[in-house]
Parts: sequence; C-alpha cells; structure tokens
Amino acid sequence: MRIAVYPGSFDPVTNGHLDIICRASRVFDRVIVAVGRQASKKPLFSTEERVAMLRKVTEDLPNVEVDSFDGLLVQYVKSRGANIVVRGLRAISDFDYEFQMTLTIKKLDDEIETLFMMTSSEYSFLSSSIVKEVASYGGCIRDMVPEVVEKKLWDRYRVSQNTSLGGRNNGHLRSAGPV
Ligand code: ADP
Repeated sequence: MRIAVYPGSFDPVTNGHLDIICRASRVFDRVIVAVGRQASKKPLFSTEERVAMLRKVTEDLPNVEVDSFDGLLVQYVKSRGANIVVRGLRAISDFDYEFQMTLTIKKLDDEIETLFMMTSSEYSFLSSSIVKEVASYGGCIRDMVPEVVEKKLWDRYRVSQNTSLGGRNNGHLRSAGPV
C-alpha cells in the first residue's frame, strides 16, 4: 500500500492545496494531509480549525485523511507507516526552500522519498498568505478557496457576508485585521 503524507501549514487550505490533494489521491492508495503544529509560526487559524476545514473540503475523497503533527516530519511519516512525502511546487521561488527541506528529510531518513507535484497553472499564483491579505482588505477570494474557507475568512476578518461575498463589498470592511 502506497501511503503518502502531504504536510503543510494550510492556514487556510486553498484551491491550490486542494488540487494537489485530489491529484495525489489518484496516484497513492492513501493520502494523509498533515497539518503542522509548529509553535514558531503564528497562524491565523488554530490547528483544530485548519484540520476541520481540510476535513470538510476533502470529505468526498475516501482515501484522504486529515491529521495534525508535532515535531519532526520524518518521525511522523514513519509513525504513520508511510515513506512518501508529497509537496507542491508553484514557481522557482519555491524551489530553494523545498530543495533544502528535501535534503534534510533525506539526511534524517533516507528511506523517505519526497515527490513534487507541479501546480496547475490556474493556481500557480495562489498561496494562503495572498488569500489572507486579499480577504483582510475585503477583496473577492471566491475562486481562490473553497466556500467553507471563504466564510471562515470573512468571519475572522469580520466582513459582512451580505456585502462581501462575491466581491460586492465596495470596501464595507468592518475590521481590517484578524480578531
Ligand atoms: P508550508 O508552510 O509547509 O509551506 P503551505 O500550507 O504553505 O505549507 O503549503 C503546503 C504545500 O503545498 C507546499 O509544498 C506548498 O508548496 C504547496 N502549495 C501551496 N500552494 C500551492 C499551490 N497554489 N499550488 C501547488 N502547491 C501549493
């Protein structure tokens, strides 16, 4: 059984992540989407919220599981009986970091392979940070994230759903920052 772990912050999950998850679910027998609990990062959403959003948007994919992990990724991968890590690549700018991470994983455990999936062209610009930035100013994020995530972002940034969903907010932003 080929089990792959797709690790990340997913703060929050975007359509770019979801595209990688769907495609990976067709390649591997089981895909474990693993939300990192890294204390060093200051996420907008708690681990539980990020896991819940991911579970909701992957509920139609029976071979996809969503979990969270602490500590070293290689230990988590081993503990789940997997030996494949899946990562997405958007642009050359991703390469440096991913290269470093892949070599570190190899150094720590050479039985684990990291496989990369190239982004689909329509999502090549998309990142969780961009989505949060656009949402924080009340911009339209409809094609960037699943609907459940769009609603959570509007809640978090206290944007009126009536005025903002679909980008018809005309700047009626009640709060410009996370609460
Ligand atoms: P991290 O904090 O580990 O970078 P992210 O949640 O930002 O976690 O991303 C997880 C993985 O998904 C990374 O491999 C990242 O390159 C990939 N990814 C993020 N956005 C996209 C996208 N739009 N298309 C393809 N892959 C993506």
